[in-house]
Amino acid sequence: MKTPRIAIVIPCYNEEDALPISAKHLLCLLDEMSNTGLISDDSYILCCNDGSKDNTWQVITDLHNKDNRIKGITLTHNKGHQYVLLAGLMTAKDKCDAAISIDADLQDDPNAIIEMVKQFHQGKEIVYGVRSSRATDTWFKRTTAHGFYSFQKAMGLNTIYDHADYRLMSSRALELLSQYNESNLFLRGIIPQIGLDTAIVTYERHERVAGESKYPLKKMLSFSIDGITSFSAKPMRMIFMTGLILLLIDIIVALYVLISYFDHQTISGWPSIMLSIWFLGSLILMSIGIVGEYIGKIFVEVKQRPRYFIKETLFD
Ligand code: UDP
Ligand code: MG
Repeated sequence: MKTPRIAIVIPCYNEEDALPISAKHLLCLLDEMSNTGLISDDSYILCCNDGSKDNTWQVITDLHNKDNRIKGITLTHNKGHQYVLLAGLMTAKDKCDAAISIDADLQDDPNAIIEMVKQFHQGKEIVYGVRSSRATDTWFKRTTAHGFYSFQKAMGLNTIYDHADYRLMSSRALELLSQYNESNLFLRGIIPQIGLDTAIVTYERHERVAGESKYPLKKMLSFSIDGITSFSAKPMRMIFMTGLILLLIDIIVALYVLISYFDHQTISGWPSIMLSIWFLGSLILMSIGIVGEYIGKIFVEVKQRPRYFIKETLFD
């Protein structure tokens, strides 16, 4: 295998403070890896500006002028982490053998990149960076994040536990990723669906090098809901199941009402009202659930996701 050309893709939103420190660190890492023959010396860093309000783009331009291994793209306006990351990966797709995505704040230990590249040499096409501990995250961030993973799982969304968007993807994996046409982007859900040979590399999570988090609880919550509703029709099925359970309870209620009625312990009108409330309630919920099942099918169809990928062909 020839020495691979690696692209490090960094989404940047208001990162003027963190970027110079991170870029310097990552350039050293590139040097180290190309000196040891792990990567080719035309490997590069792609900084992707997500419509920052500060001087991030200026910082990227300056860094590029000093060292042309730093490259950049800038979006017309702020589209969010997932979208700017996709833009970066798609830009790098045909210009590298493998791309690694990492946040600008280097909270995810950049030294794990070395291990990821080694895994790539072993033939792994997707290498997930997984946090071994969250000791430096606040208690609040840690608990809410773990809560979200469990909640997502319960709602039928399968992601890699404690893996954020720190990963290596081969150019083939990137090509397959480009075939997903959905507009609601949740990379952590899509990428495990691609398949191919994968590996996991664990690392320690650090504090931000500079600046502050762009992911407050509100954004995390909406990100999580986006993930669930883009990948799973389970919430709709839950409506149907609730209706079904209510129908079963309905039978018990009906028995109770009828017994009370024949026991002459009821005032007139009560049994009929009770019976209709319970029966109609469960009927309505089940009907909504059935409509939901169909909407679920439509929801999967409109995404026009690729239905399969061929990994290898023997054909001659
Ligand atoms: N980011 C982005 N667009 C946004 C918000 C964040 O490109 O609208 C980038 C940000 O510059 C950083 C990464 O996404 O490189 C992760 O953001 P952050 O570190 O603030 O999130 P946290 O680590 O606190 O979850
Ligand atoms: Mg961060």
